[in-house]
Amino acid sequence: MSWERAHVDSNWPTEAIAPHIRALLELIGEDPDREGLQDTPTRVARMFAELTSGYRVDPDKLLNEALFTSNYDGMVLVRGMEFYSLCEHHLLPFFGTVHVAYVPNGKIIGLSKIPRIVDMFSRRLQVQERLTEQIADFIEQVIQPQGVAVAIDAAHLCAIMRGVRKEQARMVTQVVRGVFAEDANLRQEWRAWIQQTSSPVPVLPGGGG
Ligand code: ZN
Repeated sequence: MSWERAHVDSNWPTEAIAPHIRALLELIGEDPDREGLQDTPTRVARMFAELTSGYRVDPDKLLNEALFTSNYDGMVLVRGMEFYSLCEHHLLPFFGTVHVAYVPNGKIIGLSKIPRIVDMFSRRLQVQERLTEQIADFIEQVIQPQGVAVAIDAAHLCAIMRGVRKEQARMVTQVVRGVFAEDANLRQEWRAWIQQTSSPVPVLPGGGG
């Protein structure tokens, strides 16, 4: 069974979390016993297993047999990957697009593993800046590339729903390391590629489209 389908295993403390969700419902003035809310504490408790599943991914298992030797020394770019994360300040979603590029130094990562790496770090309580860095750090650790670049373009519901000024609802972060930091041409090439990606982020108030 893949780890995505194994969020709610027998160790997940659904029973321990649910009473706290119930208490929250009471404290905001709701009636947790009314029909629509009866199963909400359990449902929310289970949902958090999935939304925080990134904490429980074993990186070695994730990469299992997916690191390969290669002489290729051009840019490897995986762009337009959708992600969903939770802002650690408000426990509300932020979501959008991640682009990852690296220039190998003898080793490459199986293509299907890059979105898994993104999931491993996004399905946690996060801030966008740290998420960007953790993806870059991880790729550096596992294949020691000549350089790595990660960019994230995201919409933050904590800003949008709470009526913060529209321009602040959307955030772009970027980390460039190694040859991407040193070589302006390569950096320009990377930017040109990722700008061509259409974003799967829906048009939201404050979204750039
Ligand atoms: Zn927030």
